[in-house]
Amino acid sequence: MENEIRWKAVETNDRRFDGAFVYGVRSTGIYCRPSCSSRLPKRENVDFFDACADAESNGFRACMRCQPASEVPAPQVAKVIAAAELLDRDETISLSDLADEVGLSPARLQKLFKELIGVSPKKFADSKRLERFKEGVRGGAAITDSMYDAGYGSSSRLYENIGNKLGMTPRAYARKGSDMQIEYTITDSDLGRLLVARTSKGVCAVNFGDNDADLETGLRKEYANAEIERNGANLKDFVDAILHNLDGSNPSLDLPLDLRATAFQMRVWEELRKIPYGETLSYQKVADKIGKSKSVRAVAAACAANRVALVIPCHRVVRSNGDVSGYKWGVERKRVILKREAARE
Ligand SMILES: [Zn+2]
Repeated sequence: MENEIRWKAVETNDRRFDGAFVYGVRSTGIYCRPSCSSRLPKRENVDFFDACADAESNGFRACMRCQPASEVPAPQVAKVIAAAELLDRDETISLSDLADEVGLSPARLQKLFKELIGVSPKKFADSKRLERFKEGVRGGAAITDSMYDAGYGSSSRLYENIGNKLGMTPRAYARKGSDMQIEYTITDSDLGRLLVARTSKGVCAVNFGDNDADLETGLRKEYANAEIERNGANLKDFVDAILHNLDGSNPSLDLPLDLRATAFQMRVWEELRKIPYGETLSYQKVADKIGKSKSVRAVAAACAANRVALVIPCHRVVRSNGDVSGYKWGVERKRVILKREAARE
């Protein structure tokens, strides 16, 4: 499914995508702009590149006919493609997070997306979800497995290896927490109200919020089929550890976890837990470290899907230029946490 938008643009010689990317044809060593009228190459021979320089550093020469190097860059179109790919990997991402991630306003993204792709981001996400699910079922995979595997190229072995390491149980993902018994508590922190929830295995949610009602609604939505009870008796140690992490007296927050996740998310989260207190990494660096250099946007989506603030330190991932980018619990909170960690390192 990756690069589906780009391939479609090439198939239809869609001029509107010129400047947003180029494609190299491995059998000829030539790279072209999307609208090039040369013969349509076989899909399996095609590599996509964001810029001509990338194509050239991979050994491709510019096509004489369409002269891709003379094209004016189209960054907005590239952003829409990036948004579509993000949605392809994580259909649950909100429009505002999506817009934030690609650097457009939500209204602008909505409009451009509709123009270029033909449907709204929401419709696109819905169709992706359905497509992915059907493909998995057709292939004979168990339904719950197909929900994870789709789009991630992962195997059950990957789940086992990483799941064991992190103490996460991917199967619980599809079941929305059925068989899970969850206890939670909500307490004050200096970054707002703090919800901490656990199962018998470990922490399953850490969320900041502005009021208790929203936090509770969020938890019940996340784990719609779980038995959920407000009871802080067994949570005191976890809450203390988290609060002391916030005030700087407990830098290593090594709590047991019980999380729903895709295999890809787990790999990213495991990598995030290795980032030391007081340090940050770019999305690109995280992608490199998990051996998926091209999956920068999927890494960003996995950060956005984190369920446990601080415990999995997604706040330590920033843009390549050092800018603090989106944070599930508010960019302002992310700024404060990073500032403190840097000061106390
Ligand atoms: Zn060409």
